[in-house]
Amino acid sequence: MKSFRCDCGQRIFFESKRCVHCGAAVGFDPQSLTMLKLAPTGEFPQTKTPLYNDNKGRTFTYCNNGHQYDVCNWLVEQPEGSAGERATWLCSGCLFNRNIPYLGNTENLLRWRKFEFAKKRLLFTLMRLQLPLESGFAKPGRGLLFDFVEDQRTDPERYPENFATTGHSNGLITINALEADDAAREEMREELNEHYRTLLGHLRHESGHYYYLLAEHDPNFVQQFSAWFGDPTRNYEQALAHYYDHAPIPDWQRFYITAYASSHPLEDWAESWGHYLHIYDALETAASLGISDKFPSQMSFHERIVTWRSVSVALNELNRSSGLGDVYPFVLNEAVENKMAAVDACITALALREA
Ligand SMILES: [Zn+2]
Ligand SMILES: [Zn+2]
Ligand SMILES: [Zn+2]
Repeated sequence: MKSFRCDCGQRIFFESKRCVHCGAAVGFDPQSLTMLKLAPTGEFPQTKTPLYNDNKGRTFTYCNNGHQYDVCNWLVEQPEGSAGERATWLCSGCLFNRNIPYLGNTENLLRWRKFEFAKKRLLFTLMRLQLPLESGFAKPGRGLLFDFVEDQRTDPERYPENFATTGHSNGLITINALEADDAAREEMREELNEHYRTLLGHLRHESGHYYYLLAEHDPNFVQQFSAWFGDPTRNYEQALAHYYDHAPIPDWQRFYITAYASSHPLEDWAESWGHYLHIYDALETAASLGISDKFPSQMSFHERIVTWRSVSVALNELNRSSGLGDVYPFVLNEAVENKMAAVDACITALALREA
């Protein structure tokens, strides 16, 4: 993540809606990928939605999900003289939502807020990497959509389904609302014997399945994929059932970033993809804050891995000094690095295809 400053000089964050120093309204402009300081300039007469100007005289409103529910700080630029129909009020990030949970209780509002923050951070990294990014509403079957959903466990009266599984299918990423519940997610993490489980981690992983779909038409990619990850057509249901019924292979650390990555080549891919995005975002943050001297976009892939090895050790040690667990409890050995290099090649090819 880049670091942002208000026009007054104060540091502001990707999630900020107000500058704590000068009190100005601020918001994220997805067009320029930057945070803008805003000055109120009136409201739409029909809807009473507040309007703001930036320092270049452009007019914006907050996304309706920010204006009405305080779960989003992205801006929507208003073309001059526009009537402000409802459809134009959603920001380009919220246009990827297909379903959100029932909003009649405060728990779901809080869960949705966490989901939006994590999703926006994912979208920011995807945009920084110049990956193709289109909503499934605009491009059915090829675009990306999100379902953030509940099941019996959170609302048995409204949702009859026993288990809404977090996953990806044909461009649709489904995230169970419980993943935004810290206590419930921690319980699932312990039950599944994982070292790391976060909403953002899920979103990054699932986006890997989505981009696999976009890449698999390229015969070069498929050849590379099979060389590093194995046969993607291996029976998926059987492999996953086997993984959950048995202990992971004993020396999985030699070949995989996580035990789960050993379950199937496509899961290995999605785990490697997720870690690639994780490292890219964290290195961009480190450079923005002056912790490292180069941005990941200025580094070769191997340089990123070398830098991340030292930055992540420092982060882990700092956390231990605070009496907390490791921030990055993973080992990036050569096998894992090679797989991430294949992810890097795929991202470069997809970004070029888009350009
Ligand atoms: Zn300020
Ligand atoms: Zn929004
Ligand atoms: Zn997966």
